[in-house]
Amino acid sequence: MPNWPLAPVRYAQAAIICIASLASAWAADYTGPLLDAHLHYNEEAWNGQTGPHPLPDVLARMQRNGVRAIVANSRPNDGTKALADAPQTRAAGVTVVPFVRLYRNRADYDNWFRDETIYTLVQTELARGTGAGPYKGLGEFHLYDSANANGPVARKLMQLAEKQQLAVLAHVDDVAIDLLMAHAPKARLIWAHTGIGGAPAARVDALMARYPLLMGELSYRPGLTCDDGQLCPEWRALVTKYPDRFLIGSDTWVNQRWLYYDELMRGYRRWLGGLPPDVARKVAWDNGARLFGLPAP
Ligand SMILES: [Zn+2]
Repeated sequence: MPNWPLAPVRYAQAAIICIASLASAWAADYTGPLLDAHLHYNEEAWNGQTGPHPLPDVLARMQRNGVRAIVANSRPNDGTKALADAPQTRAAGVTVVPFVRLYRNRADYDNWFRDETIYTLVQTELARGTGAGPYKGLGEFHLYDSANANGPVARKLMQLAEKQQLAVLAHVDDVAIDLLMAHAPKARLIWAHTGIGGAPAARVDALMARYPLLMGELSYRPGLTCDDGQLCPEWRALVTKYPDRFLIGSDTWVNQRWLYYDELMRGYRRWLGGLPPDVARKVAWDNGARLFGLPAP
């Protein structure tokens, strides 16, 4: 009769786990403000105002979803500037946090990290600013081969960001996080998707512990949510372990994502509602607001 005296304890533990997951499945959705920390307003969305998603369309999507601030970055930067400059954006109650996109076109995705003209483009944009004030970050940029994190322009841009206290939105793997942070240990790096290739939660945990300024944005993150639309257990543990370090985002990188904007935000509200309210509020709004110095909406 091995372990029989422990059986009641085990039943009790199992019951507590069941009750906790039922409680999050039944929890009401989060209803507070959202900060979309990964938004693109690319050329094909507006396309000289004849595209399928002109300003009134995208602003209405943000407004009806309670998105009160956005990190905007667009290819080319005109999309971000259109959002930042428009009186309609302010009228919709949306604060724009502009980031400098490093790309003029698709070809730049694969070459920016060694292309000096990109460094010049960034400096020109930073000097110019936007109608919503100075740029507050660089990116999103991509590194499909983490070794390119050591490209000369990647290094210079990380150091520029650190010096000017600009955030950096980087779509990279976990190896590149180490390389980028080595260039600029005090840089405010936002890890786009927190590892779109699915870096294990334990590896994310280790990077969060090693780099106290590292933030994780959660769009497209594999393994984030489970069948009930709530965070999977290991991600619930990570987010509650580092409640000040995660952000949500839409990543409207193609027009199709605009069509799903409502659904994406509903999905976030669902799993945010399953978290303790103070943690939900931080991930939804406070973490980004603190990073970018935004007032309460
Ligand atoms: Zn993106």
